[in-house]
Amino acid sequence: MNAQNLSKRLEAVASFVPTGAVVADIGSDHAYLPCYLVHNGIVTKAIAGEVVKGPFESALRQVKLEGLQNNITVRLADGLKAVEKRDGVDTITIAGMGGPLIVSILEKSPEVLNGVTRLILQPNIHAKVIREWAIGNHWAILDEVILKEDDKIYEILVLQRGEMELTEQEILLGKQLMANKTDVFVEKWSKEINNWKRILNSIKQADHTTDIVKKREEVIHLIKLVEEALNNEKG
Ligand code: SAM
Repeated sequence: MNAQNLSKRLEAVASFVPTGAVVADIGSDHAYLPCYLVHNGIVTKAIAGEVVKGPFESALRQVKLEGLQNNITVRLADGLKAVEKRDGVDTITIAGMGGPLIVSILEKSPEVLNGVTRLILQPNIHAKVIREWAIGNHWAILDEVILKEDDKIYEILVLQRGEMELTEQEILLGKQLMANKTDVFVEKWSKEINNWKRILNSIKQADHTTDIVKKREEVIHLIKLVEEALNNEKG
């Protein structure tokens, strides 16, 4: 992967960046995503934020190598602190981290989100916590994608300002993803069910303490939610 030739995952993230947006890519690593966005004429101005020195230096090197110093500002900062008011950022991308880390980044500096109209978030795991955060913070899901690359399955959530109501099942699986029920979606959740069934089996052998009984009920409930979604007719 490089800035000209993005991974399928980052290409899908890029496809949701509105033309002419001012983007901040938080946790940018090599800054491949912002470089790609500029090279492809999608944006002319972007911020690449990194909290770790090594990736920050890689991002600086990459931006220089591509001759994009006038378009992309690379900053060493924790999360949204990479964004300054004068940047006029309206779109934020955060990709390649777990859902809880993405949410903690969004929660740490909420004031930075004031001028932001779109969030494109790609959690590697636990997308559920992002949907919960969105509901509680007046963001609504505009689009959702699930894709597979190199044997890993990823979800991308595109949020815009607004209110939404989701059922427990939709928070876990994604309303739009449930409606489309692609092969990748079915694969992901069939694997989860198998994992949960393995957990149930191992719990069977454990002592029946209150905690174990509670865990067992939780896992049975999750299996039921997901099996219902998988068995429903394609919406
Ligand atoms: N976004 C790229 C992608 O999707 O390919 C890189 C993903 S890489 C697995 C995660 C990056 O996020 C790392 O470079 C890490 O240093 C950075 N990161 C983690 N926590 C961060 C934070 N609080 N603020 C900024 N960057 C962070």
